[in-house]
Amino acid sequence: MRMSLSKPLSVLAIPAFADNYLWLIHNGVNAAIVDPGDAGPVLDVLRERKLTLTAILLTHHHADHVGGVPGLLAQYEVPVYGPHNPAIRGITHPLREGDRLTVPGLGLALSVLEVPGHTLDHIAYVAADAGWLFCGDTLFAGGCGRLFEGTPAQMVESLAKLTSLPDHTAVYCAHEYTLSNLKFALEVEPENMALLTRIGVEQKKREQNQATVPTFIGLEKSTNPFLRYTEPAIMDRLTSVGRLATREAIPAFAALREWKNAYR
Ligand SMILES: [Zn+2]
Repeated sequence: MRMSLSKPLSVLAIPAFADNYLWLIHNGVNAAIVDPGDAGPVLDVLRERKLTLTAILLTHHHADHVGGVPGLLAQYEVPVYGPHNPAIRGITHPLREGDRLTVPGLGLALSVLEVPGHTLDHIAYVAADAGWLFCGDTLFAGGCGRLFEGTPAQMVESLAKLTSLPDHTAVYCAHEYTLSNLKFALEVEPENMALLTRIGVEQKKREQNQATVPTFIGLEKSTNPFLRYTEPAIMDRLTSVGRLATREAIPAFAALREWKNAYR
């Protein structure tokens, strides 16, 4: 691990597969990778930028988030942080809600949130001082993860933990799903002016082949239907399309998630 000539920390998106982002946190000398689904593109960036890998951080067990761990460990003997899930190979530091860690080689302080819903083992990392959130497949720009393992009530609670972070928190989610998420958001909330403005902004970014993430907690709160389902206009919309018969929050969230699953 080289400690000399380090620069302020920054976060770099490494595209992988069709639409994943692997997040590389680095200081110009050392680097930590979040959710390396594939080792190849990470090793390429480390080589190109002459960075030394000093840690691996995992959010949940899906292959597109952990598949690159063995390939990275073959080149770098580094600690692997992740959920308490024995099914994920290579984790040296299993983490729970409230745990804190300092990323080796970077000095970055992180705290851990348990955010079940997309999977039961899902955790998120908060860098409070930097104002960064690494949330895997829990919260997306304009959407949220599918409920493969958890219940709507669990996801509601998990998303509430994330939205309790300051509005300026940068949200590093793991996929570029933004435009299709916002298309659905507009179907749900056609009168939301903040949403209409955002769609124009994000479309321009994609036309220029730019990532639409990180997003920000404040922007999500004003435009993401999965954080806004208790708004009367959204409840009315869910009722008018025959998906909701109450005014309760969790059934509304569940109805919204099911509508999105069926939406093309
Ligand atoms: Zn996943």
